Amino acid sequence: MKKILIAGNWKMNKLSADAEEFIKELRAKNLPNEKDICILAPFTLIAGVGEALEGSEIGFGAQNVHFEESGAFTGEISVPMLKELGVTHCIVGHSERREYFNETDDTVNRKLMALLAAGITPILCVGESLEVREGGGEQTFVAGQLIADFSGISASDAAKIVIAYEPIWAIGTGRTATPEQAEEMCAFIRGVLSGIYDMATGDSLMILYGGSMKPGNAKELLEKPDINGGLIGGASLKADDFAAIAEAAASL
Ligand code: PEP
Repeated sequence: MKKILIAGNWKMNKLSADAEEFIKELRAKNLPNEKDICILAPFTLIAGVGEALEGSEIGFGAQNVHFEESGAFTGEISVPMLKELGVTHCIVGHSERREYFNETDDTVNRKLMALLAAGITPILCVGESLEVREGGGEQTFVAGQLIADFSGISASDAAKIVIAYEPIWAIGTGRTATPEQAEEMCAFIRGVLSGIYDMATGDSLMILYGGSMKPGNAKELLEKPDINGGLIGGASLKADDFAAIAEAAASL
């Protein structure tokens, strides 16, 4: 059976009462596939989300991290700080961080290494802009990101990284990649990683699709053979919508 992860990226949304209510509603659904679900919360909510999830198999984590362990990095959060909260997952290289916060493939690469060393599963985001896609350069662009982001990472560590293909033109726009476009790129990504490492590593990788995934389109995307789940922004803010996507995954 295909490995699946349904990951909710809350971005800069929710206060603690709303977060608690969400987790309560989500847990009340008694989803059969809790172990395939995780919530990526803003830093201020992570501890509370972790507590609210105690006794459940749902994972939780952060949307970013710094690659240094400690030191004079005002405003930053380190991997040991996340580890102390018990986080299971952390997003790295989201396109919003690449665009607005100076995230580069070099910092992404360092963050991946720091998370892997601590046993936290990185969710690495890659994906092209509309301009790149319209110019037909999306595969070259994504391959370039992967080669740089995985630089110096061993095959056994690479296999622990979850990759999220998120075409920038589909994030928060309501414009979803077609299942065929998403599958084509996810299969391409698997091929690139098989080339960098070996077929076994490529085959074992979890590759998610992200970009306006919602209850109405989740099933047709998740059915594709090279898509191992979704990274979900807008539709992860309401427990009903997020649970409906998880249910679509459970029904595969
Ligand atoms: C995201 O930001 O990771 C994302 C996929 O957002 P949305 O689902 O809102 O497009």
